Amino acid sequence: MNRREFAKTLGLGAAALAVPYFGGCRRSPARPSAGGAPNFIMILADDLGYGDIGCFGSTTHRTPNLDRLAAQGVRMTSFYSTSGVCTPSRASLMTGCYPRRIDMHEDEAGDWVLFPVSRKGLNPGEVTIAEVLKKSVYATSCVGKWHLGDQPPFLPTRQGFDEYFGIPYSNDMGAEQGRQNPPLPLLRNEDVIEAPVDQDTLTERYTAEAVRFIADHKDGPFFLYLAQAMPHTPLHSGERFRGKSAAGRYGDAVEELDWSTGEILAALEKLGLDERTLVVFTSDNGGVRPANNAPLSGTKGGTAEGSMRVPCIIRRPGRIPAGKECRSLATMMDFLPTFAHLAGAAAPSDRIIDGKDIRTLIEKPDASKTPYEVFYYFYMGQLQAVRSGSWKLHLPLREKRHGWRKPPIEEPGRLYDLDADPAESKDLIKEHPDVVARFLALAERAREDLGDGDKPGKHQRPAGWVDIARPLTKAPGPGR
Ligand code: MG
Repeated sequence: MNRREFAKTLGLGAAALAVPYFGGCRRSPARPSAGGAPNFIMILADDLGYGDIGCFGSTTHRTPNLDRLAAQGVRMTSFYSTSGVCTPSRASLMTGCYPRRIDMHEDEAGDWVLFPVSRKGLNPGEVTIAEVLKKSVYATSCVGKWHLGDQPPFLPTRQGFDEYFGIPYSNDMGAEQGRQNPPLPLLRNEDVIEAPVDQDTLTERYTAEAVRFIADHKDGPFFLYLAQAMPHTPLHSGERFRGKSAAGRYGDAVEELDWSTGEILAALEKLGLDERTLVVFTSDNGGVRPANNAPLSGTKGGTAEGSMRVPCIIRRPGRIPAGKECRSLATMMDFLPTFAHLAGAAAPSDRIIDGKDIRTLIEKPDASKTPYEVFYYFYMGQLQAVRSGSWKLHLPLREKRHGWRKPPIEEPGRLYDLDADPAESKDLIKEHPDVVARFLALAERAREDLGDGDKPGKHQRPAGWVDIARPLTKAPGPGR
C-alpha cells in the first residue's frame, strides 16, 4: 500500500501523512551513545485500585515486591490517569496527550472504550512513546493489553514496537462475553497464536516474555511496556496463586502481579541493570469492587479521585532517591516527554503534547513543584472537573454523563480541597466563589482547545480509521 492509499484508508488527507513518518521528531544534537541512555520498563496494571498494594495502604494484599520497589524509589501520590477507563488512558500514555486531543476519548459508537473489530484506532500518524525511543536506537517491546485498535494499521507493531505479545483489547471481550465477539486472541506480533487464550496462564506468560526481552537486550537501551491483564475482570491467576490470598480471586490476581514484578526486578538485578533502568509501576484507571481505592472516593469509570488517581511508583537507584513520596500532581501523559528527555531524544515538536517533563519531580521529590497549572478530568468527551493547586471543582452541569449507558444527572457543582480532603467529602463551593469563578474560566479554556461533548475543540487531531474492520479470529468460540 502506498502512502496515498494508506492515508485514504485511515480517512486522512494525504497531506496528513506527507511528512516522513518521524518528521515531527527533531533529533537531539546531543544524542547519547546507547550505553548512556537508560532502559525503561513501564508496568501497567489494569483497574488496580489506589489502595490495593501495601505501599499505598493495603493491609489485605501481600505485595512485598511492589513495596520493595517503593522503598527503593518514589511513590507518586497525586498521579493521574486521564480517564476512568482503559482505551483513553492508554492513548494518553502512548502519546502524551489528553484523549480528546487525539480523538481517543470514545469509540465509533460513542461508548467509552474500543470494542473488537473496531474501524477506529490510534492514528498511526501520532508519535508514540515507543516511536520516540525507537528513533533514539531503543529496542522496544509491548507485552500485554494494547486496546488502541485491533486492526493491522493500529497494532503495536505498527506504532513503534519491534515486538508484540498479548491480547489486543480487554480480557472481557471474548466470545464468552458477547456472541458478536471473536474468540479472545493472543497475538505474537501480528499473528494470532491462540484463541480463545487460556487466561489462567497470562500473567505467567507475560512475565516470561518480559524477562526474555530484558535478557535479550541487556546491553540496552530498551523500552519494555508490560500492560498486565489483571486485575481486570474476569479474574484469573496461575495455579500457584489460586485460592492463596485473603481476598479471593481479586487478591490472588493482585498477588500474582506482585510476583511478576518481583521476577522482573530479579532479572534486572541478576543482569546488573538496576542503575541503568528506570522502572515504573502504575495502573490505567481506578478500581471497581472488590478493588480498594481508599482513601479516595469513587470507582473506575468516573471523574472522582478514585476513578482517575492511581498508584504510581518510579525507581532508578542512584538517580531517583529511595523511599520518598512525591505529592505533586503528575499524569500518565508525562512519560513521553520525560522518557524522551532522559533518552536524549525529543518529543514531537510539530504538534501539541499535553504531558510535562517531570524529571525534576522524580529526582527531587521534596523540592520540586508540579509543572501543571491545571489538570482536566474528562468523562468520555465531557469535561466534568478541573484541578489546580489543591482545589478541584466538579463543574456545574445540567446533564452530567455517568455510568455505563445510564441517563445523565444534574450536577450542581462541588469544590474540594484535595490536600485536606482527598476523599472529596466536604463541599466548599459556597465558601469560595472566587475559586469557582477562576475555575469556570479555566474550563472555558479547555472547551475551546480540546472541545466538550459534541462541540469540537480548535486543536483536536483525528483518530485513525479503516474502511472495513475484520475479526482477527474467525473460528467460533465457546458459547457460539
Ligand atoms: Mg482499565
